[in-house]
Amino acid sequence: MSSSAAAELNLSTSDALFTRAKNHIPGGVNSPVRAFRAVGGHPVFMQSAKGAWLTDVDGNRYLDFINSWGPMILGHAPEVVLNAVQAAIPASLSFGAPTRREVEMAELIKQMVPSIEKVRLVNSGTEACMSAIRVARGYTGRDKIIKFEGCYHGHGDSFLIAAGSGALTLGTPDSPGVTEGVARDTITVAYNDLEATRQAIEANKDQVAALILEPVVGNMGLVAPTEGYLQGLRDLCTQHGIVLIFDEVMTGFRLARGGAQELYGIKPDMTTLGKIIGGGMPVGAYGGRQDIMDCVAPAGKVYQAGTLSGNPIATAAGIAQLTYLQEHPELYAELNRITTRIADGTRQIAAELGLNYTVNQVGSMFSVFFTSQPVHNLEDAKTSDTEAFGRYFRAMLHRGIYLAPAQYEALFVSTAMTDELVDHYLTACRESMREAHGL
Ligand SMILES: *Cc1c(COP(=O)(O)O)cnc(C)c1O
Repeated sequence: MSSSAAAELNLSTSDALFTRAKNHIPGGVNSPVRAFRAVGGHPVFMQSAKGAWLTDVDGNRYLDFINSWGPMILGHAPEVVLNAVQAAIPASLSFGAPTRREVEMAELIKQMVPSIEKVRLVNSGTEACMSAIRVARGYTGRDKIIKFEGCYHGHGDSFLIAAGSGALTLGTPDSPGVTEGVARDTITVAYNDLEATRQAIEANKDQVAALILEPVVGNMGLVAPTEGYLQGLRDLCTQHGIVLIFDEVMTGFRLARGGAQELYGIKPDMTTLGKIIGGGMPVGAYGGRQDIMDCVAPAGKVYQAGTLSGNPIATAAGIAQLTYLQEHPELYAELNRITTRIADGTRQIAAELGLNYTVNQVGSMFSVFFTSQPVHNLEDAKTSDTEAFGRYFRAMLHRGIYLAPAQYEALFVSTAMTDELVDHYLTACRESMREAHGL
């Protein structure tokens, strides 16, 4: 072994908390991927974070590439967001009645994402996606939806459908508790395969209410749309009267101020938002064409409601973060530059070690796939060596680099990342790649 070994981490407080947690919380966590099952070992419990750095309950520090799975695009605890939250707190935490900030937030979202003519705030990305398809069904009077293998739209029943054996096969539930009836209304197709989508639409003529996708996928690892793919989907939806929904919960306000739809110049009928929109608070939103959104109660008959929706503290955080992004458009070019350095550097290190791994990147999102095959869809992603990825993840963790604890996740870069920190990451990457492969 020529790689330098990492110092042992003291994780005793994390381990003790995890033992306690398992007695009270299913699997010890409130969201499954946090349990580290895909990479082995125990989860690290966090105490605090500032800028690019996390500090755990044992006092270890980590350079963070998760950034709360996207929301912390300005790094952790940015003054501009913290100040807005602090200023909002004394006026009470919730009213269950309309507030000025909800109007300001709606105006801001519409400015940044012009395809949105009307918008409804909810409390999570899951809620946004569940609501969007209900509205699309109400609007079209049709039952079925098309989704794509490897795309994640939260844990709503309709979205937890396994990839069937091809586009025309009826779905089967991916999770116990999802009924076959629900599964029958979800059609799954391979991402980046326009012809399969066309066939699925033809085979379900006048029955498809909505087509929902991540325009750039983050949830099978980072996968970009191939040339012409999004425009092709746009054309198919227009032709067949299908509501095109871009799930921009991850990509919204991240790949550009106006999300992937701005970057690729495609106008969806509806958009779902989350993550960055709340500045770290639980916020989601769905919006789109006025004629579609006017189906939502009380303007229309499609019911959707929320006790804490438009919460005054959450909107304070969201407005502060979105306003900052709106007023600093230059930060997107800088995020892209620094993430390109990370992606290129990683690709080069893997190549030098004879591994030729695929590194996908769009803007400030990237993934290192432990496969030499180009990754354009879920099938490609699944050729990755997940055992080696797990060893790499643990080697990085022990060097103070906090990656997503699974191969099929995107990594996120914040404005707190500096060139010096990239150098630090690349050194750890080289050592960890060698350690993971016994080189
Ligand atoms: C995270 C995510 C969701 C779900 O959002 P939650 O806030 O976790 O419910 C939906 N769609 C995409 C694309 C996501 O990345």
